[in-house]
Amino acid sequence: MKFELQTLEEYSDEALKEELRRVAGALNGLRLTRERFSSLARVHSSTLEKRFGSWRAALDIAGISENIAPRVRVISRDQVILAIRDYVAENPAASVTQDCIAKRLGTQKSFLSQRFGKWANLLSEVGILPAPLGRRYSDEECYENILALWTHYGRQPHFGELKHFPSTVGPKAYVRRWGGWRAALSAFVKQVSEPAALSVAPSSPELPRENQTTIVVVPAPRSIPLALRYKILSRDKFRCVACGASPAKDGGVDLHIDHIHPWSRGGQNVEENLRTLCSKCNLGKGAKLEDAQPCGAGDAAR
Ligand SMILES: [Zn+2]
Repeated sequence: MKFELQTLEEYSDEALKEELRRVAGALNGLRLTRERFSSLARVHSSTLEKRFGSWRAALDIAGISENIAPRVRVISRDQVILAIRDYVAENPAASVTQDCIAKRLGTQKSFLSQRFGKWANLLSEVGILPAPLGRRYSDEECYENILALWTHYGRQPHFGELKHFPSTVGPKAYVRRWGGWRAALSAFVKQVSEPAALSVAPSSPELPRENQTTIVVVPAPRSIPLALRYKILSRDKFRCVACGASPAKDGGVDLHIDHIHPWSRGGQNVEENLRTLCSKCNLGKGAKLEDAQPCGAGDAAR
């Protein structure tokens, strides 16, 4: 059953721009590419290109930020070096990773390495020594990465998979921290099986030192603790409960944990109120406001 309007009601410039913004907003930080847009929107990207002259122009006119949709452009070596210098000036204590410079330039890490070769060479040109041990990942980041891979493959990830997309934390980090992959996985499983971890709020963003003495009233967190996300994902077998799509079987599927009774209306971070949806079904829900019941799922179905 289709639950989503497949066409726009009108094709004014404003309606097209609005559709761009809607899809961009629903991607939860994923990059807005032409392909993603066309698969999720109620209009094809070519319509926007025709209307506004080019995809890039459409993004500009709709005010979509470079972070969400980097414009295709040539980045020179000088620009990269300048970006590194600026970054170091602003973050003197941080190590300069290819990732953060790519982000700053609105491009991908792979683009930088393809174009400029070894990162260490580029850094030494600027007079920076690459951090000898690489970046230090927190336990939380390591666990998040395991969960991302577990979701991607629909099963316990293998050590070798740490080197490949969508992994963002390399194998060395796990070996350094836990001594080996097996031990790292046990730590992860222990982490997600702790009954207490299900209700523990994720760590709040670090406050500047001077703010630490002020009392901060923290509302019920919208973000769902790792252990609970793992529980919901494995309960739903790493598939969208509405349409059955899974990253393991269907490429390009992103799964989200959805609040059945919306968090904005007081829906709780509890197992009964959470379910796994793909971004497409999740978007359909958002588009029809929160009362939509994707593919017949919803309160009644659980
Ligand atoms: Zn779905």
